[in-house]
Amino acid sequence: MRFHELNNELLISIAGHLQDEDLKHFALVCRKFAMVACSDVIWKERLYNQFGITYKLPTEQWRDMYNRKTEDPAHARICPHIGYVTPKILEPYAAKYQTILNWLDKNLNCATCRTNCADSGLCLYIWKNNVRHRCKDCAYSFHKAVEGHGILFRMNVLQMYCFDCKRLLGETRGDSSEAHYVDMLLETLTHDSEKGKESMRKREQCMKERLLYAEHADRASVVANGKYYFVERVWLISWFLRLCDGKIGVGPVANDELEDPNREGKLNPNSRPRGNFKGGFSIVSPLLWNYLVETYGLSGGTYTSGILQ
Ligand SMILES: [Zn+2]
Ligand SMILES: [Zn+2]
Repeated sequence: MRFHELNNELLISIAGHLQDEDLKHFALVCRKFAMVACSDVIWKERLYNQFGITYKLPTEQWRDMYNRKTEDPAHARICPHIGYVTPKILEPYAAKYQTILNWLDKNLNCATCRTNCADSGLCLYIWKNNVRHRCKDCAYSFHKAVEGHGILFRMNVLQMYCFDCKRLLGETRGDSSEAHYVDMLLETLTHDSEKGKESMRKREQCMKERLLYAEHADRASVVANGKYYFVERVWLISWFLRLCDGKIGVGPVANDELEDPNREGKLNPNSRPRGNFKGGFSIVSPLLWNYLVETYGLSGGTYTSGILQ
């Protein structure tokens, strides 16, 4: 067989390993080679060969994804390791996930320490094609032993953590392609049941609220925007910590803690910003304030910066 008679798949695979200069020469060989060289799948090959990435947004070209990945060498926004976890690997766990949701299985034991995971929530520790049931603690100690590889999937809160990238995947700091890939994996597990769908809705709400927190509770930008609201600080911190843990709901905003005991409805003059004690407060934007009050309710008064715009 002559070189130009190779099928497209092989040609793409070869061209995907070439540097820019060599690819230009490759394109000059004949029309068929030229077509291969300028096709988008070359970028898919390059993305995989150089970064191990196997996914992208369905709405974009592989070339766009490649360009964005080259700007992210430290895996700060795009994790290559999650690509090893495929729907096919997770599919057998869909049924297991149902039993976790329904608290039916009393024998959800950690594969390592054998303690029951029914309360703490079962994790899947995924490393290459190897999937083990582990409690969170055992997963962490195992990852230390194998030098940091692997994905930890916390089934009860639908979170995926990459030990190599050291962050939760598909979350607010990640690239949208990564979020899309993680969502697709979670769909595999949850699409079969109402409870699964409900968990996905809760997860979505958590992500939305974490984004709101990042953008609307940052002191400098909140102050710069003029009007702001006071939120009792212990309440705000518990709300945010729950979100980080994939949970929502902390009861109404506890602003009654900020009230002056001697003057009803007035802000206690002893209240201090950023104090980590009851009666301390943080400030948030009007948008976040309205969201919190509508979603969680309000106990106590509304205190604003008084700078009405
Ligand atoms: Zn990673
Ligand atoms: Zn364990």
